[in-house]
Amino acid sequence: MTKQHRFKQTLVPPVLFVFLLLNVILLMGYGLAGCTNGSNFIQSTGQSGELSGDQSEEQGMAPSESPVVETEIDFTKIKPNEAGRIMVLMYHGISEPEAEWVRTPDNLRKDLQVLYDQGYRPISLKDYVSGNITTEAGYTPVVLTFDDGLQNNFELIKNAQGEWELNPNCAVAILEEFHREHPDFPLEATFFINNNTPFGQPEHVAYKLQYIVDKGMDLGNHTNTHVNFSTADASRIQKEIVGVVKMVGEYLPDYEINTLALPFGSRPKDKELYTYLEQGSYEGTSYKNIAILNVGWDPDKSPYHQDFNPFAIHRIRASEIQKYVQHVGMYDWLEKFDKGSLTRFVSDGDADTVTVPEDYKEQLAEQKIGKRTLKTYELEE
Ligand SMILES: [Zn+2]
Repeated sequence: MTKQHRFKQTLVPPVLFVFLLLNVILLMGYGLAGCTNGSNFIQSTGQSGELSGDQSEEQGMAPSESPVVETEIDFTKIKPNEAGRIMVLMYHGISEPEAEWVRTPDNLRKDLQVLYDQGYRPISLKDYVSGNITTEAGYTPVVLTFDDGLQNNFELIKNAQGEWELNPNCAVAILEEFHREHPDFPLEATFFINNNTPFGQPEHVAYKLQYIVDKGMDLGNHTNTHVNFSTADASRIQKEIVGVVKMVGEYLPDYEINTLALPFGSRPKDKELYTYLEQGSYEGTSYKNIAILNVGWDPDKSPYHQDFNPFAIHRIRASEIQKYVQHVGMYDWLEKFDKGSLTRFVSDGDADTVTVPEDYKEQLAEQKIGKRTLKTYELEE
């Protein structure tokens, strides 16, 4: 564990970054560039006591003709805090009109824009629970989830030429479109499905499941029959979870479905049965979940926090109808983060380090930090 008083990094402004990235892609295409990656654009200013050793000292390979104006990013200004909170947003239907369990396509677009503008960037649920935070320095990870595998989450429609294409108002299309227009907003989301023709359209199930995984998004388990676990026994719990594991396995033999969203947020009354939510087997098929998601209600802890429990992750409804969200909806929490009444996770931009202000160090668990390097710094007065 090292103590760091000040960090500085130089970063190229986003527009230039995209410009440079295009150059790199072009160069790679012509086989001119050797081993290049994003870290080429980040360089330490090399003051003692700053990011050192494991940090890349490589110079940027900016083309000489490009008007590179490097902007210094001072960690005492960015204030990375990887002990802060992370929102796991919960969506269900995406259609008209807005309702308790429905967000309209335009409202989903608005949510993404607000998140983007306020410095939130999606990460996968799997990366969240494993603490693999690759979010750009100064930005806050957010996890997007969609329950119930509804057709309006992923719908194919026929175009004028009679070819199948994505309905531009379904969740998958909206996420993809936003990612296309904002490449620094990663295409990450988890779709929790049941075993009842996920996303409707039986003839397209294979295509859709493959598509989601090919795009780097995830499928999650929402149980065979959307069971209410509160009255389920050990056998029923395992049967319900295995039903989706087997179904996905038939379509995607290499994909491991190991995250579970509890239908209705329900848990067995007998806590001794919780273990079957985490792992078990039924008729020869076994499973081991790495994340279990509740329904409510607040931003959850940093994956490095001593109290972080990947088997009881809180989610937040992405809605702004107070009747339903009761002051614990996405926009309520955004406001609380903004006002500073709750501390949000701010990434240090390096998945191999965990950076927090000195005062937050005690909240973390060494075992959860794992092999990563813990760095602390004093906030300047
Ligand atoms: Zn559900």
